[in-house]
Amino acid sequence: MSVMNEYIVDLFEFARTGRVAEGDVQLAALPRMVTEVPAEVSASGRARSVFHWRAEGAEEPVLRADGKPAVVQFLTLKVEGPMWLECQRCLTPFEAPLDSETTFEIVPDEAAAEDRPLDEDELEALVGSRHFDLLELIEEELLLALPIVPKHEVCPTVHDSLATGSDGLAEPAPAPEDEDKPSPFAALAALKRSPDKDGK
Ligand SMILES: [Zn+2]
Repeated sequence: MSVMNEYIVDLFEFARTGRVAEGDVQLAALPRMVTEVPAEVSASGRARSVFHWRAEGAEEPVLRADGKPAVVQFLTLKVEGPMWLECQRCLTPFEAPLDSETTFEIVPDEAAAEDRPLDEDELEALVGSRHFDLLELIEEELLLALPIVPKHEVCPTVHDSLATGSDGLAEPAPAPEDEDKPSPFAALAALKRSPDKDGK
């Protein structure tokens, strides 16, 4: 049981000495992220995302609410990289950039995490360990960084069947305004403006 694992750290020591660690992790090493990849991308073997991570420990003296001095330990974890997701508008896979940075307050145990006052300004508690698995936290942060409803900013193509959808059948609405088809009102407004321009 002496397999080297670069991701296992003594988190208390990591914070106390202000250590910084960073690296790249393959998508394949993150089983819960792998399940988020659209099936057709997995099948094609295109899902070769690599995520960059950076962890920084810190320790600072603070004054507690009761006026007692204490030493608080922190961990800041940054994760970023591209991830294949399925656009919920046009249902095609696309690569979305994930990017997150979170600072945690390291606490010694679960009880300490639960004892903390509920304060909006309070940092998220992270239960430390002498054998803390950074990889697990990296995956957790990437999962949290996934968009709830992944969507292209602008879909490359939208099928008519998807553009109208069931809403379109229930309630015939005016054609949606999109980049390809300027709205008739905009065209009308342009016509109204043009005599002014010509008149000057
Ligand atoms: Zn789309």
